[in-house]
Amino acid sequence: MAAHKKVAEILSSIREQGRRKLLEHESKQVLAAWGIPTTRVELARDAAEAVRAARELKYPVVMKISSPDIIHKSDAGGVKVGLSSELEVHQAFKEIVDSARAYRPNAKILGVTVQEYVPHAREVIVGTLQDPTFGATVMFGLGGVWVEALKDVSFRLAPLTADDAREMISEIKGYPILAGVRGEPEADIDAIVDILQKAGQLAHEFPEIVEMDINPIFVFDRGKGAIAIDARIILKERA
Ligand code: ADP
Ligand code: MG
Repeated sequence: MAAHKKVAEILSSIREQGRRKLLEHESKQVLAAWGIPTTRVELARDAAEAVRAARELKYPVVMKISSPDIIHKSDAGGVKVGLSSELEVHQAFKEIVDSARAYRPNAKILGVTVQEYVPHAREVIVGTLQDPTFGATVMFGLGGVWVEALKDVSFRLAPLTADDAREMISEIKGYPILAGVRGEPEADIDAIVDILQKAGQLAHEFPEIVEMDINPIFVFDRGKGAIAIDARIILKERA
């Protein structure tokens, strides 16, 4: 299968570099190869490259710090959303790198990713882990403050049927936020089902992916899809 081969190639190139943590843009390459929708993203090593990338992607764009030593990019002042001119992109590059250096002076900074801006929507998170006994496991929850504050998440063993995925979605307490309350339109639950199944299949076929965290996924109204906004993949200690 073409997708399996593509993912295997990406993972082995990470291994060849002696690493086990994929950066955001690398994690998104894996998701894209696996058919999970993600933002288009490019790594820029300097401000001029960032401007070129932004021109290709079309304004507005989002820029984020790219460093193996910074996990929570916003905490480091490393995320800027909705930049809409060359001047803004140029300045953002410097500001993002400066605040990352201030946040963690010894961090290895690879550059700044430039990515397409996605209008805000309902947020969910999808994760995977490898349970020592049961193997690949998928986690689902609402994004943003909900998941941290309420621990409102559901789990299933992979691979998942569409019915398993639907159950995972409907059993969280926050489900009405997705189903739509008071005349609000329903979120695209089929798009979440598809992402849950694909994430489960990925973790099932690649047990060396010990952890995957897609947080957030923006989910649009029914029929309009869902897209991974941030992603992180961690490989097993040794191949
Ligand atoms: P981190 O979790 O490392 O702090 P994220 O990549 O999740 O960084 O970005 C932080 C927040 O910025 C996201 O939760 C989202 O609200 C917003 N954001 C990030 N990327 C985009 C994007 N491409 N389009 C729109 N909003 C974005
Ligand atoms: Mg995030």
